[in-house]
Formats: sequence, structure tokens, C-alpha cells
Amino acid sequence: MNILVINTGSSSLKFRLFNYDDLKLRANGLVERIGEAKSDFKMEWNGTVKKTNIEAADHKAAFQVVINELLSPECGLIKDVSDIKIVGHRVVHGAEKFLKTTIINDDVIEQLKECIPLAPLHNPPNLMGITAAKEVMADGVPHVAVFDTAFHSTMERESYLYALPYSYYEKYSVRRYGFHGTSHKFVSQRLCEILGQGPEGLKVVTCHLGNGSSLAAVKDGKSIDTSMGMTPLEGVVMGTRSGDFDPAIIKYIMDTEGKSIDDVDKVINKQSGLLGISGISNDIRDVEDEAEKGHERANLALDVFCYRIKKYVGAYAAAMGGLTDIIFTAGIGENDPIVRRKVCSNMEFLGISIDLENNELRKTERTISTPDSKVRVWIIPTDEELMIAREAKEVVESTVAVGK
Ligand code: ADP
Repeated sequence: MNILVINTGSSSLKFRLFNYDDLKLRANGLVERIGEAKSDFKMEWNGTVKKTNIEAADHKAAFQVVINELLSPECGLIKDVSDIKIVGHRVVHGAEKFLKTTIINDDVIEQLKECIPLAPLHNPPNLMGITAAKEVMADGVPHVAVFDTAFHSTMERESYLYALPYSYYEKYSVRRYGFHGTSHKFVSQRLCEILGQGPEGLKVVTCHLGNGSSLAAVKDGKSIDTSMGMTPLEGVVMGTRSGDFDPAIIKYIMDTEGKSIDDVDKVINKQSGLLGISGISNDIRDVEDEAEKGHERANLALDVFCYRIKKYVGAYAAAMGGLTDIIFTAGIGENDPIVRRKVCSNMEFLGISIDLENNELRKTERTISTPDSKVRVWIIPTDEELMIAREAKEVVESTVAVGK
């Protein structure tokens, strides 16, 4: 028996197949360029990598190819579609409707459609993935939605409310929601496993630093604040997203450059962040390469990037009334010693001190703080798909157990 986890974008479908009992990864892959004349398919299993061109006019066709490949004698990971017991779906925005992992039925799909205005870029492809998978899989196979926003549903009003007219919140659900919840939850739970204790008493700042980046303040295992807001634009500096800035700049640039609101929206989402400041790249590796050669704006981009993260760490220490642990995760958090060093520098006043040699090592999960550091600093690789599989299994088993 297996659990299939899928994560759909507008023209892509990522998938992972997990063994049901122990949630061991059996295969992972993706379909890209869905809707184009030829789509790309890639799958890895048992040390084998298969890459091929396929025809996938839409997400349903792409999902069917995934199932066919899993069934193929060459791969042989499943003998029949019924070997997939649950399909877990990543859904970006659950708004205030979905505060936890949810088994998908027709009513849930209708409510997910109502969330589209809050996440116009992410939720429609997620819904396409759900519809496609439901059409291909047999009736009776549970489909489960795991939301990026759900882990942050424990935030109090004081941290999620914007100081805008209250009616915007009441009428249009304008508030902060936060994202990357499955990742923040995964690494904070993993910390408890490593420490061999429950979450009580832990005051953790989780730094998910990847293409998109967010920090969360996780107190006693619950998210009490996070840096992304109603959309993934707010917060720290990202590859191409600005993060926090004075919203009055929008009108100023519109007036000064004669830009439309859509133009400016594109600027702040796609042309800002590391790319905007450095003028080089949204990928921090490129920015660091140029910074090392003395490129001034590359250095500046790096400084702004790290300074903003450092400010959030300080803010969250204040929000939680202390700090026990900092966790770095995702592409940059796990792999980039420069960012970790800059974020943790001059933080001794908060009890943060890292071992610079250990920080540089190319090893995975570990602590990089010095033995006398009051705050433990960790690198913990995230695994959002495993978290989705775990949550999907839990919710299905508990629902069956209580006979709902
Ligand atoms: P996402 O899931 O948001 O697409 P990831 O968590 O995979 O992003 O992170 C991708 C980013 O991580 C890349 O854009 C790159 O900047 C960064 N990254 C990946 N590998 C390294 C590395 N070895 N050193 C520094 N940064 C890295």
C-alpha cells in the first residue's frame, strides 16, 4: 500500500510515492511544461532515473502519465491503481475556512474555489491537480488537502490583523495567514524528536529560506507569528519578491513612471528581492559568486537579505519572550553558510553563538551553535512532502477510527 503526494503548479505536477506503513520514499518525480506540445517527465526510484518527453495537454493527462509510469513493468512500484490508498494534495491557501488538514469532498472543493481570490496564482493549479487526481483515481480513494496556511492558524489576532479598516477583515478576510506551514511544522517537530522531548517550553524561530522565504515564531509547538502575510509577498527579502516595504511606494512609482497597478505588482513580485537589488540573479549562489568578486550591489543584496532575517529573529525573540532554538531549513537555510553566519553574527546579546567551522561543513542535520551558546542553532532539512503524507495518513486513519 502507498500514499501518493502531489503538488501542482500552473504547468507542473510534482509527485512522491511513499510506502503506507513506514512512509519510506519509494519514488519521486515531476511533469513540467504541461499544456505545451511536448511535456517533460522525470522520475527517480530505486536509484534509477527516467527522463522522457510525454504528451500532457492538461493536468489530468499528466496525472494519468504518472499513474501509468508507476504501473509500468519497468518501474513496477504498483501493481494496480488500488495500491494507492490515499492521495495527499498540497494546497497553498486555506484562508479561515481550513484550519487543518481536510479530507476533500464536493463541499470542500466548493469552499476551495471560494479561497481563490486570496491566492489567485496558487490555488487554481492546486484545484486542477485535485480534480485531475479525482477523475483518474477510483471512487472511494480518499484525497486529502494539506494547507500551507494551516500551521499558522494558531496565531492570535494581535499578530494576524493588519491595521487597516476592520471592515476589510470582516468583509474580505484581509489578514495575515502565513505560508510554508508544512515546512515550519516539520522542522519544529523534528527538533522535538532530536531533543527527545515535547514542544512545551521551546521558543523556536524557524527560518525557511528558499526561493520563497519565511520565518515563524514557534512557541510550545504552535506558530504564534510568521513573516509572510495575506500573500507570500510580505516579510523577508526573497529571490524576486520584495518582502516588507512601505506600501506608499506603489503609488509613488505609478505616478512617477506612469506604471499601471499590474506593472507594479509584477515589479514587487518578480523583479525585486535579491534580483532587484543585485541586478544579477534571484539565485543566491550567483549573487554570492559576484559578491566575492567585489560586485558592490551583489554585496548589498546579500547584506539586505541577511539583515532583514536578523531583524525578524530579534522580533520573534521579543514576541515569544525568549529564544531557545533557531532552525535553518530549505535550499538556502540548509546549504548556505554565508547567510547563516551573517544572520547569527553579533547576536551574543541574545545568547546566540555559532561555531564558524562547523557552519561551513557540508553535512546535513546538525547543530551549529557553540557548546556555550544559550540558544541552540540547527540545520534541519525540511521535507514538506513527507509531512503531507504523514498528515494525510493521520487524518484518514482518525476519520476511519471514529467512523465518520
Ligand atoms: P523552493 O522550494 O522555494 O523552490 P528551495 O527550498 O528548493 O526552494 O530553495 C531553492 C533556492 O535555494 C535556490 O534558489 C538557491 O538560491 C538556494 N540554494 C540551493 N542550493 C544551494 C546551495 N548549495 N548554496 C546556496 N544556496 C542554495
